[in-house]
Amino acid sequence: MPKPGPETEVRFVRGVGERRAKTLAEAGIHRVSDLLLRLPFRYEDRSAERPAEAIRDGEAASVEVVVESLSVRPTRRRNLKIVELRARDRTGPVRATWFNRQHLRHLLTPGKRVILFGAAKVAYPGAAPEFSNPKYEVVTDSRPPTLAAPAAADPEAETAEPQESAESAESAESGPAGASLHVGRIVPIYERAGEIHPRQFRRILHDLIESGAGNDPGGLPEELVARRGLPSRSEALREVHFPADGASLDALLRRRSPGHRRLIIEEFFSFALGLALRRREDRTGRPGGGSFPANDAIRDLAKQVIPFRLTASQREALRTMAQEFAGPQPMRRLLQGDVGSGKTIVAVVAALIVIGNGAQAALMAPTEVLAEQHFSTIRRLLEPHRIRVALLTAGLSASDRRATLTALESGWAQFVVGTHSLIQDGARFRNLGFAVVDEQHRFGVEQRQLLVERGAGCDLLVMTATPIPRTLTMALHGDLDLSELTEMPPGRQPIRTLVRPLSALPEVHDLVLEEARRGRQTFYVCPFIEDSEAVDGSGVERRFRELADGPFRGLRVDFVHGRIPRARRERVMAAFAAGDLEVLVATTVIEVGVDIPNATVMVVEHAERFGLAQLHQLRGRVGRGAHPSTAALVFGSQATEMAAARLRVLEETTDGFRIAEADLAQRGPGDFFGARQHGLPPFRVADLVRDAEFLREARREARDFLDRGGDRSEEGQEILARVRRTWGDRFGLTTGG
Ligand code: ADP
Ligand code: MG
Repeated sequence: MPKPGPETEVRFVRGVGERRAKTLAEAGIHRVSDLLLRLPFRYEDRSAERPAEAIRDGEAASVEVVVESLSVRPTRRRNLKIVELRARDRTGPVRATWFNRQHLRHLLTPGKRVILFGAAKVAYPGAAPEFSNPKYEVVTDSRPPTLAAPAAADPEAETAEPQESAESAESAESGPAGASLHVGRIVPIYERAGEIHPRQFRRILHDLIESGAGNDPGGLPEELVARRGLPSRSEALREVHFPADGASLDALLRRRSPGHRRLIIEEFFSFALGLALRRREDRTGRPGGGSFPANDAIRDLAKQVIPFRLTASQREALRTMAQEFAGPQPMRRLLQGDVGSGKTIVAVVAALIVIGNGAQAALMAPTEVLAEQHFSTIRRLLEPHRIRVALLTAGLSASDRRATLTALESGWAQFVVGTHSLIQDGARFRNLGFAVVDEQHRFGVEQRQLLVERGAGCDLLVMTATPIPRTLTMALHGDLDLSELTEMPPGRQPIRTLVRPLSALPEVHDLVLEEARRGRQTFYVCPFIEDSEAVDGSGVERRFRELADGPFRGLRVDFVHGRIPRARRERVMAAFAAGDLEVLVATTVIEVGVDIPNATVMVVEHAERFGLAQLHQLRGRVGRGAHPSTAALVFGSQATEMAAARLRVLEETTDGFRIAEADLAQRGPGDFFGARQHGLPPFRVADLVRDAEFLREARREARDFLDRGGDRSEEGQEILARVRRTWGDRFGLTTGG
């Protein structure tokens, strides 16, 4: 069999074979390079392990033994019992005693394997070692039945390579040659994959690495490796799989050993190069080198349109964008600002610059409710100045839809607001110059790309409220330049947050009633479904009736959810916006973007079912006017202690960044976006949360690398080819070249 290289299929690897290759394929492991990056998920320090016969008097050591018997002896003192263990390994008997640990009887039953650790007494050379009150661990993993074979003490035994076939690898594990792989060192523990036992992994990877399969230059420039003092890729692989004597267990467990660092940086660097390449390919210039300069007419118009004094960071974001519009390359910008920081007006004013230059602008929102709201806000701002605004959502009637599509294609509509409908078939623009994606965290990365591609050389502004932690933002939008709204518009009232059990609901209702008497309004959010059958919002409707006929009798109450007809929903939202309703019972359709300054109470029932970031968004629906507001997060009787404790983060802070980080830490990146397709990159070694700092560095390194023309060298070409192989699909990179 030829020597395996990184591209070799795993079925050709010794110890794998066809059957196991199938299992591996299910785990996403197809080639040797995949296998090498399947790192141990933890390590055990077994370097102090000894065979029984080699334990010396008074020495701290550990030994793995099989239980023979356990007895409990009374002593003369009434409350003192001695538990005595008799056990042995291949080389001889071992004894251990504990005081008053009768429960061990159930744990250390005959035949169980257990590791004892402590200082042992050896009465005379050759006597059975006796541990008193040793620490112990019942062996549940994959360790071979007789670890401490005499040969284990001799690391040289490793060099005798066993020659069995794949299927008999298991038996080899207990042989002398396998021993030093599993004992007397820091031992890697792999996750099980299908029927492949963790210790078989250990053997397979060991053989692979010994055979030099990891000898591959990798994807980092030599200069960077040298400057950061990183090990080579092959050294790194060897070290993370089979740490050398004296390696720091702590560093390995924290994934901060030099080998881990190298592999993490390498993976992030490759990803960041992919981002940077897309950015470069994306920004090859507007058609005909055009630009959208702001002139006096546009500046005058903007002054008339803006209804308030912009905050300093709103002005700063606009200044930057105006400069980019005036330059030859299309903008790729992320506008990040906490809920309520005023992103909409920034997008609208920016659009004026583009529209003033004769191109069209489009704003895509994740929900119909939000699209409709933006449509009415923007129309109110722009139509008095004879700018033609259109709406495109799935909820339009067939004839309205046709009319809007024609208006886009003919260029009659200058500003269109819509949902996903904007990126579906049939939506064509005459000359889309500026695409805005609002609340990007609700969309996939591909969707923003689809919108931009509706216009040649189109400029892009992506807006996101912060409940995306910075690290995830970078992983998703690292190819974008960043503008941040760091302050809130003046006059905002702080929001008081109450986390309450269901039993406190009457108090919460009193608060709603009291605010209604003062002329204020309440959002009342319930989870979408309560009834087992219905996915139609009937839970909300039922709750609405209970509330309207019960505690809120006499108030004007109505409800919305995603499944009611658009015309009705618009009517309800308009009535609420106009102050004709005191309470709006809703699902999370009102989660993002909705802006009703007179609403001062947000009640969320079953708050434990929502993520923190989502609750922060919901809370952001109040506190938008001049009156003090309250968010009441009511947790259900089923909520665990922990779920309730989790909610308290929201009592403590209104800083969207901190909440998002807490949410991420609690739920992990996969769950952070809920069930929605989140589009996060599939990293093998690196972890977006744990290794956030490295991603920042990798991004800087990748941009530097391209800026100084690193990709022009032969080494650079190879690195880039690797990036295109790995990330080309995701980033739509051109291949070759
Ligand atoms: P978000 O950033 O969450 O999308 P919005 O754009 O919806 O926030 O703005 C929140 C509210 O603040 C809106 O009512 C908007 O009109 C108002 N607003 C935005 N900027 C300012 C400002 N500079 N001064 C006063 N009010 C502002
Ligand atoms: Mg918004």
